[in-house]
Amino acid sequence: MITRSPANVQTPSSMPESGRRIVVHDEARPGWQAQLAAAIRDPRELCRRLNLDPGWLPGASTGHALFEVRVPEAYLARIRVNDPQDPLLRQVLPLAAESETPIGYVQDPLQEAEHTPRRGLIHKYASRVLLIASPACAINCRYCFRRHFPYQENAPSRAQWDDTLAYIRDDPSLNEVILSGGDPLASSDRQLAWLSQRLESIAHLKRLRIHTRLPVVIPDRVDASMLDWLSATRLQKVMVLHINHANEIDTAVVEACARLKQAGVTLLNQSVLLRGVNDSVSALSALSERLFEAGILPYYLHVLDPVTGAAHFDVTDEEARALVADLREVLPGFLMPRLVREVPGEASKTPL
Ligand code: SF4
Repeated sequence: MITRSPANVQTPSSMPESGRRIVVHDEARPGWQAQLAAAIRDPRELCRRLNLDPGWLPGASTGHALFEVRVPEAYLARIRVNDPQDPLLRQVLPLAAESETPIGYVQDPLQEAEHTPRRGLIHKYASRVLLIASPACAINCRYCFRRHFPYQENAPSRAQWDDTLAYIRDDPSLNEVILSGGDPLASSDRQLAWLSQRLESIAHLKRLRIHTRLPVVIPDRVDASMLDWLSATRLQKVMVLHINHANEIDTAVVEACARLKQAGVTLLNQSVLLRGVNDSVSALSALSERLFEAGILPYYLHVLDPVTGAAHFDVTDEEARALVADLREVLPGFLMPRLVREVPGEASKTPL
C-alpha cells in the first residue's frame, strides 16, 4: 500500500479532517476490475494452486458444472496451501455433494420470486426494499442462497430502472433502500453514483444499505472512485459485510474498512453458520473479536437457507442454539451476533 500524492487527494473521503493522508490503493497492483477479471474460474487451477490431492478434482468438477468456481487472487492468498479443510477454501471449493438433493432443499428457499413487484426490486419487509444492483459476484460462495437466482430476468435496463425508482418514489412508507445482488459493488462506480443520486433525490429515503462481500474478497474495491460517491450522498450509509471466518480479515481488509469509516459508513457484519467453516465457539469468538478490531460490529448469524447444493454446510438448530449459548459465556454482549433464520412470508428475520 502507498499513500496517494497530495495532488490526487481531492475528496473528503480521501482526506480526513486531521489532514493526515490515508492509504487508498497500491498503484503497483492491478485495479479491482482487473483483479476480478483474473479470478480463478477453473477447478483444476484452484486445486493446482492450493496443492490439493488430485482426488479432490472430480468432485470439484461436478460442483463447478452446477455453479462455477470463482476465486480472486486476493482471497486465494488467505487460504492455506495443502489443507482441504481450510475454512476459507471450504467456502469456495465445489464438491460432489452439491449434486445431492435432500428433501426440503429448493432452488429459491426464500421465495423471493413472490416479492418482486418490479424488475430487480424485492419488497418483503415494511419500510425497506432491496434492489438487485448487480448480477455478478467477485467470488462464488458454495452456500449462496441465490446460487440459482434468475439474474437475467431481474437485470433492469436504464429505462427499467426508472420504473423501479418510480415504485420507491410512490411509496412514502419506504425509508431505506438495500443494494444487493450478486454483489452490488461489482457494478461500476459510474452506475452506482448514478443510482445513489437518483435515490437521494427521493425525499422520504433516509438510508442506503449495501450488502457486499467485495471489500473482503478484493479490498482494493474500496478505491477513491467508490469513496467519492459514497461520501457525496446525503443518505446515511450502512454497509453489511458478509464475513464468515476471522482468517478472511487480513491487513488489506482492515485498511479498506478504515477507508469506509472515514467516508462515514457504518460497518456491520452478517455471517452464515457453516459446518466445517465456523461451527465452533473458538471460530465464532475469534470472528467477533477480529471484526471489532477492524471496526465492524457483528450483526446477524444466519442459519443456512435450505438452497439446493448447500446441504453439506447445514448445522442443526439444536447445535446452533448450543453454540450461541456457549459463545455468550466468552463474549461481551456487544460482540454477540443475533442467531436468526429467514422464513419466507415473515415480516422480519426470525430469532432462533
Ligand atoms: S458474494 Fe454473496 S451473493 Fe455472491 S456468491 Fe457469495 S454469498 Fe452469494
